[in-house]
Amino acid sequence: MENTSWKARLWGMVLLFALSITVVEAQVKTQVIAHRGYWKTEGSAQNSLASIRKAAEAGVYGSEFDVHLTADGKLVVFHDDEVNGLKIQDSNFSDLSAVSLANGEKIPTLEQYLDEAKKWKDIELIFELKSHATPEREDEAVRRSVEMIEQQGLASRTTYIAFSLHAAEAFHRCAPDAEVYYLNGDLTPEELKSRGLSGLDYHFKAIQEHPDWVKEAHELGLKVNVWTVNDRAVMQEMKNLGVDYLTTDLPEEALEVIAE
Ligand code: MG
Repeated sequence: MENTSWKARLWGMVLLFALSITVVEAQVKTQVIAHRGYWKTEGSAQNSLASIRKAAEAGVYGSEFDVHLTADGKLVVFHDDEVNGLKIQDSNFSDLSAVSLANGEKIPTLEQYLDEAKKWKDIELIFELKSHATPEREDEAVRRSVEMIEQQGLASRTTYIAFSLHAAEAFHRCAPDAEVYYLNGDLTPEELKSRGLSGLDYHFKAIQEHPDWVKEAHELGLKVNVWTVNDRAVMQEMKNLGVDYLTTDLPEEALEVIAE
């Protein structure tokens, strides 16, 4: 008799534990990341100093930005490969420094951008390194990026992302404690795990094609970010799938959908 009740209690505990895991699994709260900062708002521009300020003011989890290494070894924050006929990575910073962004700011150096970021302590930095011409240039860009993030005391707030698998793996080697996500949409969660990466940061269509990847990633201890989700129905769909992060040009709308 005593033995039976002991077993029943044990099974009850096992059941409770399983239930609590299920509840935790279902409660993944999707966090919002402003794509190129919060730029679709007055006075802002993509990858501008204003864009990280406005992302922080909107209360999002993180702000994404794009980084290139110039020919003369300066890290700059800018999205496109070219501006006014100048290839960013083949130009010296002095040739780019006159270029104005849509809100009148100049192209920020990474250092200027991080100086602004330091004023907004609650926002995570989602650092995209653009692909560079050769593996050697990428290694150089990764090394300088990690060095600057660490010098500025921002390592604990920074996540690295890259389309280049070479660059993503270089970040993992150079900053083994940092979270590193791969953007290109073509590797399974298992393949990313085996390369030591923290998760996938894929176009939402890749996740619509492979919705099982969200659960597979979570079971492997990886996280899932999706870009660039600007449609409310897709925001809802991604939230229901339980993605960890949603990258969007419309952060205020995404925050509403997540809160619904
Ligand atoms: Mg980007």
